Amino acid sequence: MELSETQFRRYARHLILDEVGEEGQEKLLQSRVLVVGAGGLGSPLLLYLAAAGVGTIGIIDNDRVDLTNLQRQIVHATRSVGTLKVESARATLAAINDDVRVETHPERLGPDNARGLIAGYDLVADGSDNFATRYLLTDCCFRLKKPLVAAALSPFEGQLSTFRPYLGAGHPCYRCLFREPPPPDMVPRCEEAGILGAVAGVLGTLQAVEVLKELLGLGDSLDGQLLIYDALRAQFHRIRIGKDAECPTCGVPALAASG
Ligand SMILES: [Zn+2]
Repeated sequence: MELSETQFRRYARHLILDEVGEEGQEKLLQSRVLVVGAGGLGSPLLLYLAAAGVGTIGIIDNDRVDLTNLQRQIVHATRSVGTLKVESARATLAAINDDVRVETHPERLGPDNARGLIAGYDLVADGSDNFATRYLLTDCCFRLKKPLVAAALSPFEGQLSTFRPYLGAGHPCYRCLFREPPPPDMVPRCEEAGILGAVAGVLGTLQAVEVLKELLGLGDSLDGQLLIYDALRAQFHRIRIGKDAECPTCGVPALAASG
C-alpha cells in the first residue's frame, strides 16, 4: 500500500520518527486490533488507536451508554446515552479518523463466540471489567497465538501487562500470575466500587502505547512484566512474572494435553 497525500500530512509526526516511518505507518494501517470493552479503559485506548491510524479496530461490548459511564468513558458523549456503546464509539472514531474501519460486535464475549472473533484479529486488547472475560481471553489468545495486552483497574490503581505465552519458556500468561479467578463476590466492579475516572484514562492510554509498540515491534514489551500504577502515591512499579510450569493454560500439562 502507498500513503496518500492526506495520510502523509495526518501521520506526519509518526513519519518523522525513525522508529515508525512510512513502513511503520503502513503496518499500522494494515493492522487489525480487537478491543474488548468500550468502557473506562477502552475509551482512551480506542481514541488513540484510531488517531494513530490502526486500520481496522474491532469493538466488542453489549452494553448501552449510561449517564453514570460518562465520568470516565470518554469515547461516549452525553447525546449517546441509551445507545449501544459499540455504535457510540464507532461514531466518535469515525469523526477522528476516516482511515479507520470499525467493526462492531454488540455481543457479550463468551466461550461460544470468543474463538471466532479473536481469530480475525492480529492482537487483542482487554479492557473488560470481569474475570470471566479475562480468563477466557487468556485461554483463547494462547491457543490462537495472538498477543494480549491486558489492563485492569481498582479505584486508585491500575495494572498492565502483555501476554505472549505461545512463545514458550520465559513467556507467562495471566493464569501463570493468578491461577484461579477470585470468588465473584470478592471483586467489586467500577459500577459498585467507584473509580477516579482519570485513573482509567492513564491505564487505557498506557495500554494504547503498548498495543502500538507490539504492532510496530518497538522497544521493550511488557511480556513477562506487570506494570502497576498507584495513583494516590503517584508511583509506578514493575514486577517480573515467572512462567508457571504447571499452568493449566500454557504450562507442561496443557501442552501435553493438546499434543
Ligand atoms: Zn500460563
